[in-house]
Amino acid sequence: MTTVGVRLPLGFGGRPHGRSPRGLSAAPPSRRLGAADAGEWPRPRTFPRAEELERPVDVLPGVGPAVKKKLERLGLETVGDLLLHRPFRYEEPVPEVRIADLQADVDVAIAGDVLTTSTRRRGRLQMLTARISDGTATVSATWFNQPWLERQLQPGTAVRIRGRQGRYGFDVRSFDIGEGEATADFAPVYPASEDITAKKVRELVGAALPRALSDPLPADLKQNEALPERVDAVWALHRPRSLGEAEVGRRRLAFDELLLLQIWLARRRREREAEVAPALGPPGELVGRYRSVLPFQLTEHQKRAIAELDADLERSVPMQRLLQGEVGSGKTVVALYALLRAVEAGKQGALMAPTETLAEQHFLTVEEPCSLLGVTCALLTSSSAKRERDLAPHADIVVGTHALIQEGVEFRDLAVAVVDEQHRFGVEQRKALTEGRSPHVLHMTATPIPRTLALTVYGDLAVSEISRPPADRKPIKTAWVAEDRSAAAYSRLRKHLDAGRQAYVVCPLIEESETTQARAAEVEAERLQKAELRGYRVGLLHGRLRPSERRELMARFKARDLDVLVATTVIEVGVDVPNATIMIVQEADRFGLAQLHQLRGRVGRGAEQSYCLLISRAREDLTEPAVERLEALVRTNDGFELAEVDLDIRGSGQLLGTRQSGLTDLRFAHLRKDRSLLERARAIADELVDAEGPLSDEVEQAFAGRDLSAA
Ligand code: ADP
Ligand code: MG
Repeated sequence: MTTVGVRLPLGFGGRPHGRSPRGLSAAPPSRRLGAADAGEWPRPRTFPRAEELERPVDVLPGVGPAVKKKLERLGLETVGDLLLHRPFRYEEPVPEVRIADLQADVDVAIAGDVLTTSTRRRGRLQMLTARISDGTATVSATWFNQPWLERQLQPGTAVRIRGRQGRYGFDVRSFDIGEGEATADFAPVYPASEDITAKKVRELVGAALPRALSDPLPADLKQNEALPERVDAVWALHRPRSLGEAEVGRRRLAFDELLLLQIWLARRRREREAEVAPALGPPGELVGRYRSVLPFQLTEHQKRAIAELDADLERSVPMQRLLQGEVGSGKTVVALYALLRAVEAGKQGALMAPTETLAEQHFLTVEEPCSLLGVTCALLTSSSAKRERDLAPHADIVVGTHALIQEGVEFRDLAVAVVDEQHRFGVEQRKALTEGRSPHVLHMTATPIPRTLALTVYGDLAVSEISRPPADRKPIKTAWVAEDRSAAAYSRLRKHLDAGRQAYVVCPLIEESETTQARAAEVEAERLQKAELRGYRVGLLHGRLRPSERRELMARFKARDLDVLVATTVIEVGVDVPNATIMIVQEADRFGLAQLHQLRGRVGRGAEQSYCLLISRAREDLTEPAVERLEALVRTNDGFELAEVDLDIRGSGQLLGTRQSGLTDLRFAHLRKDRSLLERARAIADELVDAEGPLSDEVEQAFAGRDLSAA
């Protein structure tokens, strides 16, 4: 057993093979996880400067241009990247046994010397066999399809192997030649790629592990939060002696990740609060009349959202509120209220939607109440004529696409901006809407985001939720139908059509261009028209239609000139036809959970019972996540619950719609598991927002170039 001066016991004595897992020089600095005070043991005087972590990977031994390229493909460009490359699991501990004591089908480790090697073929498999002896007996160890290993397994070579005794001898799962560590208990297993083995990655991480690492967290903070030193956390991540230790390390790195993010968000929040927006005072007469012209009562959730935004609008700090709500929950009604608040103050409101279809839809919704109220309203998209384009910015309320923020569009006096499906806009676009003026902004999203994620991604936004749709809606009934029973699904659909209802058929998702997708949809619509939908009036909606064509198509569907809309995912948002009561989604397993939930929201918008039929291949042919997605959709209509499920299935925060923000590329934090850690990080960030020095530098560095002022 190796010990190193005053450094802490390495604690590897428990290893069954009694071999030091690594050379002296690579000994970890302290291994005192959970203890935070650094005073007890002398720390090295020279911490590597942060730049050292930024050194390219090829400063490490064994990394030439070829390996460097391969690492790049894994996103590993610097020494620091390697250190933060997270193992996706650890090897379970196994006993080391004497070869004479080997039993079949038990995971163990053995150590011995190579006697001889041989190779042969067995069908498509190439088998390499080495006879290995430890003095008690010999065993034949087999490797498959790694013929190059023969050179390394020269007679007399000492090896340690993990695996189990099987039919063809000892099946090797991992092995070490010389001073390796792949067979150690809790050896990290890294995500490998086709061209670089997990073993190589493990070696390189080993070479990158530093003896010291700068640690920006104040000592008392680490003490209070029971967080280990960063360098210890990195060692624990890659060289844990137990799963518990690996978890303590992960948790520290997760904390760092969350803290940097929360500090950055806190800074953004503060900057924004320094801006000045027009204070709109209390609600006036116009919005009072608006409430009375609505053909329905506002729901409690709508009323609450309105009260929340009224409070924001009274202040001169620009509102930054996220309005989350199920598709069809009535967000647009709330949005129009916010816009009218600007109008009654003599100012303007703008509503920006991500697509022309959606902008047109909103315009139609908004136009009617506006005309009753004597409020002027205009539509502005990239297909608007020059004249419209010049006039639109003078209207009280302007609805449009990103054309709203194109150059030359000068608002008279913009006080309230609503951004619908805000995640579909790039950061730059959202920014441009508020650039140079600081209106109150209401962001809307129908992609429900779990509370934890909202805190993370939208940490600097206030959130209003409309989690219940208007009362007269019946929950959509969803069924999962195997492909071989799709005929039954279509006959169900025809029953609805025969009863005067309308329907959607969603085409299989093709992960290629919009053009390919459109062409495939055309083919599918033609096929359906000749088969399952013969005799019905079928329209086709896809992303390659011209705006005028799309407008006409939607108008015809709304007017019941068409029975069925065959569509790509372009109907995901915005289409509102209450008479459509059934939807078939083909190859539903190919869609994401959030996307399916959005699609489903196109039905169930009236008082009739609506249905969603998800067709997929047989259950046995699907991946486990696909099965979980489909089961979840059948089980619940609750978007927030589905969002939680989605988070679970994906493991991290890569929810549809938040991906672009880049904020959810959390490597170590698991938003559900680490909820309390997140909340601690958030609270601590408020205290550290002014901190200067290394922590602040790291915040700046982590978010350099990212501006999510309206994230
Ligand atoms: P969202 O924008 O959240 O998808 P919308 O605002 O488009 O939802 O509303 C969906 C439908 O529900 C619209 O036809 C709208 O007129 C109707 N609606 C909205 N609020 C109510 C309410 N309180 N009671 C009844 N129907 C409502
Ligand atoms: Mg809507």
